[in-house]
Amino acid sequence: MRLDEKELSAIITMVIEELQQREKNNKTSGNGIFHDINDAIDAASKAQQELIELPIKKRNEIIDSMRKVILDNLELLSRMAVEETKMGRVDDKIKKNELVAVKTPGTEILETEALTGDHGLTLVEMAPFGVIGSLTPSTNPSETIINNAIGMIAAGNSVVFGPHPSAKRVSHKTVELLNAAIMEAGGPQNLITTVYEPTLDTARALIDHPGINILVATGGKAVVKAVLSSGKKAIGAGAGNPPVVVDETADVRKAARDIVIGSSFDNNLPCISEKEVIAVKAIYDKLIEFMQEEGAYRIKGDAVKALEELVLTQKDEYKARSCTTGEKLPPSAYGPNKNFIGKDALVILKELGISAGKDVKVIIVETDKNHPFVFNEMLMPVLPIVKVDDVDEGIKTAVEVEHGNRHTAVMHSKNVDNMTRFARAIKTTIFVKNAPSYAGIGVGGEGFTSFTIAGPTGEGLTSAKNFVRIRRCVLANALSIL
Ligand code: NAD
Repeated sequence: MRLDEKELSAIITMVIEELQQREKNNKTSGNGIFHDINDAIDAASKAQQELIELPIKKRNEIIDSMRKVILDNLELLSRMAVEETKMGRVDDKIKKNELVAVKTPGTEILETEALTGDHGLTLVEMAPFGVIGSLTPSTNPSETIINNAIGMIAAGNSVVFGPHPSAKRVSHKTVELLNAAIMEAGGPQNLITTVYEPTLDTARALIDHPGINILVATGGKAVVKAVLSSGKKAIGAGAGNPPVVVDETADVRKAARDIVIGSSFDNNLPCISEKEVIAVKAIYDKLIEFMQEEGAYRIKGDAVKALEELVLTQKDEYKARSCTTGEKLPPSAYGPNKNFIGKDALVILKELGISAGKDVKVIIVETDKNHPFVFNEMLMPVLPIVKVDDVDEGIKTAVEVEHGNRHTAVMHSKNVDNMTRFARAIKTTIFVKNAPSYAGIGVGGEGFTSFTIAGPTGEGLTSAKNFVRIRRCVLANALSIL
């Protein structure tokens, strides 16, 4: 069938009208996902105005409803994240999503301060900023959205998310579910918004938009730098490279078990996971032996070179240099091969032609401290182990390889002086003793959870407390009943 020009034009007009109608629907359906970042910000701004008109009781009901919808969809979100990003493990993502749904603080963490005296009553209250722009990572896509959304809304804000492009579908689903739960509890539509096609350009537009009152970046160095140079108030939660030091006083069996569990959790994607082991020579061999019994596969000999070639890539700027001069390149010349980030240890071993038992969770390899496996945040279950003479050398090495990120460090020791010395020297936001790294975010350790750990800007494990403006309200010479 051939169409004449008039018929063709009529069809095109119909399609355009249909698309415009859909767009209109998207703007008003309240699922929070928009084509244009400006519309997403406008809608979130309107929603925030409505939120602050509601009583705190309603805010609590909204948060309860958000927690519930996530608990009802743990498996869906976890599967979507693994399928879309091709990183991590479904069973561990279920635990992470559950953790943020249950242990993210709500409004109860916000406390008003009252000062009374001869001059009356002064209240110091925690008020909302307004609309928050939150950039989220591919490594914990739904978890970061859930965690930040609960904390930000508890503090009376709305939020516009800039998800990582490679995790957009699971991020959309999370936003959609949370908005439906908010509306079901009687909250405003579009309290959480985002865009259909998140890109670096939409992230940039979000950062620069005058309607965004505060920025929160959860990711690597580049995004933290981008928000900190925005001229706005910004919270930066950046990269880590957590070392774990084991000294001669440690319960070596327990240390081995904790390190294997912590470093293999979600295939080493969490920023807090143990990224390199530094062990004193007195317990070094025992530690490796026990780690193998706990599910670590030790790579040695020629296989080490094959592993390096598989999971490392040389950075472009160094390629020409090594060819022409033949010099040995520094560890910074290499980075993790993206194809293996967040992959199962068994997948990596299979690529090397090694078949191992299905209990294997992590690959261990003995290196020196200048190896690219130690230098880089590998974000995969490949764990280097460095031998040192004593705990002093161990602490010094750990400080060096953490690169001043001040993120997370772990120690296995029974010696209080050693633990104190290490904690003082490394100055990390999280310092875990005698447990897997995730004890630092409230799993088997005391305290609430957070997936936005702000080392560079100093808020630490963020919660609703960090998403507020402190305001003082003074009533002079009255209402003090002292
Ligand atoms: P990433 O930095 O590539 O992306 C994070 C977000 O920032 C994404 O939304 C991305 O689109 C955006 N982004 C990246 N560069 C940008 C730029 N120049 N301008 C504007 N936006 C930009 O991170 P990833 O690979 O998805 O996640 C892994 C990294 O995040 C690791 O380094 C990990 O340690 C870190 N991380 C830190 C925390 C923390 O709480 N400190 C939590 C999770 C992940």
